[in-house]
Amino acid sequence: MRSGILIAGYLCLAVTPLALAYAEGMPPRPFRDELAAGLGLVGFAMLLMEFFLSGRFRAISGRIGIDLTMRFHQLVARSLMLFILIHPFLYSIPFKSPLPWDTTGRFTLGLEATSIITGVVAWLLLAILVLTSVYRNQLPYRYEVWRLAHGIGAICVAGFGLHHALEAGRYSAAASLQVFWLAMTGLAVLTILYVYVIMPWRQLRVPYSVVSVRKVAAKTWGLTVEPVNGKAMEFSAGQFAWVTLGRSPFAITEHPFSMSSCPAERPRIEFTIKEAGDFTNRLGSIPRGARAFLDGPHGNLTLPNRDGLGLVFIAGGVGLSPIMSMLRQLRVERDPQPMILVYGNRCAEQILYGSEIEAMTQDLNLQVHHVLSEPPPRWTGLTGQLDISVLRDLLSFDGREDWLFYVCGPAPMIDSVEADLGHLGIPLRQIVSEKFSYN
Ligand SMILES: Cc1cc2nc3c(=O)[nH]c(=O)nc-3n(C[C@H](O)[C@H](O)[C@H](O)COP(=O)(O)OP(=O)(O)OC[C@H]3O[C@@H](n4cnc5c(N)ncnc54)[C@H](O)[C@@H]3O)c2cc1C
Repeated sequence: MRSGILIAGYLCLAVTPLALAYAEGMPPRPFRDELAAGLGLVGFAMLLMEFFLSGRFRAISGRIGIDLTMRFHQLVARSLMLFILIHPFLYSIPFKSPLPWDTTGRFTLGLEATSIITGVVAWLLLAILVLTSVYRNQLPYRYEVWRLAHGIGAICVAGFGLHHALEAGRYSAAASLQVFWLAMTGLAVLTILYVYVIMPWRQLRVPYSVVSVRKVAAKTWGLTVEPVNGKAMEFSAGQFAWVTLGRSPFAITEHPFSMSSCPAERPRIEFTIKEAGDFTNRLGSIPRGARAFLDGPHGNLTLPNRDGLGLVFIAGGVGLSPIMSMLRQLRVERDPQPMILVYGNRCAEQILYGSEIEAMTQDLNLQVHHVLSEPPPRWTGLTGQLDISVLRDLLSFDGREDWLFYVCGPAPMIDSVEADLGHLGIPLRQIVSEKFSYN
């Protein structure tokens, strides 16, 4: 329902330039030429809206989840790239300098040299921007370098595109469309200011300090922070925050991590972090008292406002982190509903919070099933992958389609678990998931 409203609003904005162009009542050109112009108009509107869809607005990602927001951002980028890339090739009327008597641009594409240049630059940059995002993992650059280049590239495409639209566009010469483009660009600029200036400035007022960094499993750390002064961020169990470690929140080295502590444990907030690259590999050497900044809470992997006969948590590796936050909160609240935790790891050394989870079975109506793909010799638990055979056995009770399923872990695991749950008859609306990567 929420996704439907957001998508309807999005589509309305995307086709607004078409409606404004139509309202100008200009003499029609051949269909190919109108299609070319239409693709350019809709493509550029979609491009400007990409700035809001970059995953940093709680109004969007808090409603539909960060996965869906980022997936939408990526799908829209591919579609708008297609629209804009074919836009110049569809014109059938000739390119010429503007003809003084052809005031409505019906017979020629009267382009000035500068608008051709800005159009070509925006066109090329857009292709590079989308392709370097799709093939990011194959590039020899750090994530932060790619992210900075992606942001600067997007601003350049929008700037050059705006010049091209205002100078070359037949319909964009109309006052209504000029106002529309300037307003949309202004909103995109505000978005950038909000994310990179206002949000860090707000974080600066509530700095956190590292209380401890402790090893909680193989290559996995528990990072605990608390506010230096003032109140800790409010959040729902299962949400995540963008974490910056260092003297200033005005940095591009922020990383998303789920809170693994529960809201009841505030003001202390804990993150459970697995070594995955240059930032997370250095966590063990972060000193006590180091400064930290949090932007959050984000995400919709949460318990409130959802109905189910019981709760099934399915976690892979460090994907337990947000689920741990929920279990801890449910334990504090002494929640009586039935719960099942299915927790998959490669080996026993990777199991997080094993004894705490075991103790939770005394206080909660909770069954715990560990699944190891490389079990030790005397392992009595389940073995193999978190696949349909394991899930079918564990979820063979009546009424399972009315339970709520929370799934968190690496992207391939979530895709396969979601498909398996679908095969077991669990409706999509009963499944809430969060991937730990946007790829
Ligand atoms: C919503 C969400 C919640 C997460 N929660 C946890 C958690 O609780 N515990 C945990 O261990 N990991 C979590 N992650 C994954 C974690 O953010 C990455 O492992 C971490 O940022 C890697 O940084 P790095 O510099 O060490 O590695 P890098 O080598 O720089 O990155 C490895 C991969 O991590 C991802 N990544 C890196 N930096 C960012 C960034 N700034 N924004 C988005 N993705 C990035 C990219 O896919 C990249 O390819 C979460 C990710 C997301 C999207």
